[in-house]
Amino acid sequence: MAIVVIDCGLVYLVPSMYRWYLYKSSELSVPSGDLWRFLECCICECCCNALCYLWKCLFTIFRYNYAICNNNTMDSNENINIAASQSSINDPFFRYKMPAISVKHEGRGNGVKTLLKNLDQISKSLHREPIDLLQYVASELSVMSMHKNDDYIINGTFSPGVIQDCISRFVSSHVLCSLCENPETRYSVKGKKGKYATLEKTCAACGATDIVPDHKINKRIIASMIASKK
Ligand SMILES: [Zn+2]
Repeated sequence: MAIVVIDCGLVYLVPSMYRWYLYKSSELSVPSGDLWRFLECCICECCCNALCYLWKCLFTIFRYNYAICNNNTMDSNENINIAASQSSINDPFFRYKMPAISVKHEGRGNGVKTLLKNLDQISKSLHREPIDLLQYVASELSVMSMHKNDDYIINGTFSPGVIQDCISRFVSSHVLCSLCENPETRYSVKGKKGKYATLEKTCAACGATDIVPDHKINKRIIASMIASKK
């Protein structure tokens, strides 16, 4: 079974292999039985070291195809801590959590798209607008995005790992308090007009206010905040 999976994946994935190679193994969501069948097929004379580069590539291809064979989705029921420091990220009792991103790949060829299935829930956990998060992810990946019938979609095929990395960067820059790292922050706008307005976030835990690092999406957030006050 695994060999068939690899065969149909090789041609497909070689151009983007290096990107796939970077994914964290911790995000695997594959039943262990299938994984072991795959490993048994892989461990042969030419590839005796299970950690070698080839193995990692095959492993990634397996995972990708596994997702395609299973209704084209890569789901994870995992919850991730809303934090930046390693100690908080790994703390199982951490208070603030968000669901891990779940994606679905749609379309073929140039029309291939990635549906961000649970962007709504993630945004809710972060107390941010889903459209902000969608535009942030699209901007980081330099692709177009669209919001249609409650679906949040970006052009191109991206794995959950790549999207999750973008979300982590959004959390660090646009959500966490830079003083105490608490995620209970609210946006505010300093200054009133056009380019003189800056986006800030104020922390409910320690009261600190700091400037949100400059990003393409800030302009739109500022505009919508000013519009909502009118
Ligand atoms: Zn704070």
